[in-house]
Amino acid sequence: MVQWPVDYTGAWTLQTPVERRGVGLHSGQQATVRLQASERPGFWVGWLDAPELPLCRLAPGQVSDTQLCTALRLGPRRLATVEHLLAALAGTGVTQAEILVSGEEVPLLDGSALPWVEALAEAGLTALPAPSAGVVLKAPLTVSDGSSFATALPYAGLRLGAAIEFTDAAIGRQLFSLELTPCTFVDEIAPARTFGLRSQVDQLRAAGLIQGGCLENALVCDGETWLNPPLRFAEEPVRHKILDLLGDLALVGLPRAQVFAYRGSHGLHTSLAAALADLPPAIPSPG
Ligand SMILES: [Zn+2]
Repeated sequence: MVQWPVDYTGAWTLQTPVERRGVGLHSGQQATVRLQASERPGFWVGWLDAPELPLCRLAPGQVSDTQLCTALRLGPRRLATVEHLLAALAGTGVTQAEILVSGEEVPLLDGSALPWVEALAEAGLTALPAPSAGVVLKAPLTVSDGSSFATALPYAGLRLGAAIEFTDAAIGRQLFSLELTPCTFVDEIAPARTFGLRSQVDQLRAAGLIQGGCLENALVCDGETWLNPPLRFAEEPVRHKILDLLGDLALVGLPRAQVFAYRGSHGLHTSLAAALADLPPAIPSPG
């Protein structure tokens, strides 16, 4: 059993490097990711296939595309589908790490954050002396896009919630929220997989997307049923929305806040991360 941090107040990095390889959801290409300790706060991306390029610290300003995944523009390179890996790092309490990648897209693995959590369990985590400089809100912050919105309220801990509404009866209306800690993340959120609608699969394939998508790495909904049951949780889709929200917030570091997203999307989540990044820096509380 791994001892995860008890909460998000400390600073943590990896004990030993760890590597995973797999297919990217949209490109269908094989890619390798190596995770290792960083001496500097934040998540830093470098390239296994271009070691001469400097490492980039991730920030919401790098978001270049949010159609179905969060893609970043990092100097001359693009990196797609970062959200599940970032959710695993931030969710387990990691506050600083180097992410070295070959290729243009983080592998989807099983469509959840669980394989990344298992990689981090294998690597082990080390506590660092400095407290984590989490974003602290002084007033509510809301971003919206049509009828969708995401709001962050001041709070001592981290509480995440999401609601979704689909006409497909198998999904329907779902609402889920939880007090997030590394342990509740690992048990309640990390295993929730990506989902899609059968009606959209052909259209997305024709548009050159989801080339690496299959019934092994995404739940596919077909009206009243799922093509590939069983689900890991009755409300697995909305739990996955919380996973995506967490991964997008990790671009700025986890806030001390209650965050709720109604019909969230990567565009909405990354707008909230950008708004949080614009707040004045927090002064870590003593002790
Ligand atoms: Zn996702």
